Order: sequence, then C-alpha cells, then structure tokens
Amino acid sequence: MSIHRQQASDYLEKLLQQYSLEELKAKLEQNPSPPAPKLPRGAHLTPKLVEKRYRAIAAAPEIRDALLDEQTEANLECYQRNIENFIGTVKMPVGLAGPLRVNGIFAQGDYYIPLATTEAALVASYNRGANLIAEAGGCAAIVLNEGVSRAPGFAFQTLSEAGQFVVWTLSQQEQFKRCAESTTRHGKLIDIRISVEGNHVYLDFEFTTGDAAGQNMVTIATQAICNYIQEHSPIQPQYAFVEANLSGDKKASARSFLLVRGKKVSAEAIIPAELVVKRLHATPTEMVNYWRMSALGGTMSGTIGVQGHYANGLAALYIACGQDVACVSESAVGVTRFELTPEGALYAAVTLPNLIVGTVGGGTGLPSQQACLEILGLKGPGKAKAFAEVCAGLALAGELSIIGALCSGDFARAHQRLARGKK
Ligand code: NAP
Repeated sequence: MSIHRQQASDYLEKLLQQYSLEELKAKLEQNPSPPAPKLPRGAHLTPKLVEKRYRAIAAAPEIRDALLDEQTEANLECYQRNIENFIGTVKMPVGLAGPLRVNGIFAQGDYYIPLATTEAALVASYNRGANLIAEAGGCAAIVLNEGVSRAPGFAFQTLSEAGQFVVWTLSQQEQFKRCAESTTRHGKLIDIRISVEGNHVYLDFEFTTGDAAGQNMVTIATQAICNYIQEHSPIQPQYAFVEANLSGDKKASARSFLLVRGKKVSAEAIIPAELVVKRLHATPTEMVNYWRMSALGGTMSGTIGVQGHYANGLAALYIACGQDVACVSESAVGVTRFELTPEGALYAAVTLPNLIVGTVGGGTGLPSQQACLEILGLKGPGKAKAFAEVCAGLALAGELSIIGALCSGDFARAHQRLARGKK
C-alpha cells in the first residue's frame, strides 16, 4: 500500500494549490453538528414507509419515478426478504450471449445466457466466445467438488485450554452434525477442519447446501453448533464468534483456491485452428503465446490463480440471475490454460474452484431474476450444479474471446467502436 515518494509529493503539491494546509486540516476534523435526519428503518416493506424515505431525503419526483416504477410498486412484497430500507429498483440493461453449448455432467445443451451489465463490448465478447465454442461442438464441463464453509473462532486463556477444547471437539462430530442439520432440510455437514493458533481455535465447518448458494444456510447451522458448544463444552472459551474470517466468505483467498468454496468446476474445449482464425482472427500459436506471457504476468503481479477476466461474465450473470454479486470476489479466481494440440488445434481449459451459486434462495426468486433463470432453463430445485457448469463454460468463452481480441488487435478497436460509437 506504499506510494512512490515522487507521486506523493506531486499529489500534495496539487492539493495545496487547491486548499491551504489549515483548510485541509479543518476538513478532517470531527463535525459536531447534528447529522442529517435518520431514515425510516425496517425490513418490513410498506408503501407508506417507502414514501417516508423519499420525503426524508427530499427527493425530486423524477428521482422517485426512476426508482419506483409501476411494476416495482405493484410487486413490493416480493422484495421483502432481500432488502432493508427499500426505495425501489435499479434497472440494468440485460443482453443475451449464446448459444453456448455445454457438454457437462449436469448442464447439457445449448444455453442462451442473460448478462446484466453497463459495460459495452462485454456481451459481444462473451457472445463471440460462446458461438465459437458451440461451433466447435461445445465445451466439456464437470463439477469436481462442492462445499461451503463457515468458520467460527474460539479464544481461550492458554494453548493448553485450546488443546483440551480440540480434544473434546474431536469426539463431537455426530452431535455437531445433528445440531447443524436440525436447522435445514438441504444443508449437510460433511467435514470439519481444525486450526489452532496460540490460544485461538478455528473450527472450519464444511457443508453441502443443495441447490442454494448456502451462505445463510451455513451461518444458521453453524450458530446452532456454537450454541451447543456453549452449553456442553467442558472448557469454555473466553469469547467466540460464529465466523472468524477463515472461511473465505466474499474474498479471494488462498484457502478457497486450494480447496473449494461453493462449486469447483473445470471446463475445456478443443477448437480447430481454422475456426480460431475465422472467428478470432488469430492463430492458435498466437493465442498460446499470449496465454504463456499473460500467465507469467499474472504470476508476477501476485494474482490468486491465473486468468484473464472471469469477473466480467460472472458479475453480469450473477446480477441477471439473482446470485449474490459480491461473491464474484471469490468466484472470479481460477486457472486458465491454453495449449496447442499435436494437430495444431487450440486446447483451452478453465478451472474455477469458488463458484458460489444457487438456483433457489437468495435473489433467485425475484421477478426479473427468475425470468433470466427461466431463459437459461435453470430455474429452481435440481439445477444448481448445471448452473455452475454453465458459469465455467461462460468463463471459458470469455477467455477465448478476450485473448483472441488481444492477439488480433481487436481489443482497443472493439471498445472504441462499441463503447464510444467510433469506427
Ligand atoms: P436462503 O434463501 O437464505 O436459503 C435457502 C432456502 O431455500 C432455505 O430455506 C432452504 O431450506 C430452501 N430450499 C428449498 N429447496 C432447496 C433446495 N433444493 N436446495 C437448497 N435449499 C432449498 O439462501 P442461502 O443460499 O442460504 O443464502 C444465500 C444468501 O445469503 C444470499 O442472498 C447472500 O447474499 C446471503 N449471504 C449471507 C451471509 C451470511 O453470513 N448470512 C453471507 C454472505 C451472503 P432448508 O434450509 O430447510 O433446506
């Protein structure tokens, strides 16, 4: 987080041209005046409360109308469990990419993929990659592993106490499982990892979560285990937290990269050379040269895994389909690999170990999000693994398209044309 000396001094010089040192100091002082009025709070969603909030911020009617359109107003109740202090909905443009042919264990067929984004060129790029994969016969995709963890932390006085607590927990697996599974029909406790650091103990509980992404499910189940521990442990911790930041929830982490968070999926495609040239205007050799150099670039910059831009497609798909978009922070890690086959075709593969996605729960039940899942044919129970395989296929499409664009010189050209409207 350091800044180069010259940069710091340039920045300061510019700031001091705008403000005196006294003015700058005054800006950072505590402001004792009463804060602006508090907002009418609440998860309970009524038209009266919504209007109260607009009045509290003295919003112009056109602001209210932009956020609280007729359809939103008519469907107020469906947002009840997804938001607090509700004032309306934000409209995002949604585009379709596809068909993307996925020859998966769970996803089988040609998918039209809804992508919600405000970034020009994104849908065009994924569409191009998806079409290329489809033309080549599709990508194979396999869910390799699944698990969502919640990791409570327990603080003791001494390492010895921590050790005695661990000894006790080792005998409690069945009881932990019973407590956890009393809170959920679909969540199953499948593993426990233990980390001791001095007088601290982290218990890392891993669950499968059915067709839900599962973060609420594992939190509620783990809280039940923590309550049991509080009641029954012969060694009481001085303090404990239901999550001690070891689970990798909503952050890219080495732990999740090496293990799994959500679903781990690998997808691959073999694209004949002439198709690569025809659709991406680059040769397989150029694509592999780029991949090799970018793999080293990624390694030298310290990324977790090596990939081009998984976040673009995943964020757009997550928004469209009611996934928790903040989970892109962990989902968008993985490894992309391009190689030449002995026949001169392009072998392309992606592996994403942290696809934390679901087809029930969270935002998947909201009206436009349901519509997007319906377009995909992946709405509701029984579809989460297929959804994860489609995510990996989409990531592969994005990698093929962006690397093609970087090899052929289309990268800047496409953004100039699509985002700026210039030839
Ligand atoms: P959820 O909507 O809280 O729970 C899923 C619900 O669907 C459960 O009530 C589950 O019942 C039910 N269900 C019905 N059929 C199912 C099936 N086939 N498979 C699985 N569940 C089924 O969603 P969640 O996935 O647990 O949590 C996702 C949400 O958590 C996201 O909105 C995310 O933003 C939020 N989140 C929470 C935390 C946190 O720590 N609390 C952290 C990050 C994100 P049963 O439980 O009885 O099976």
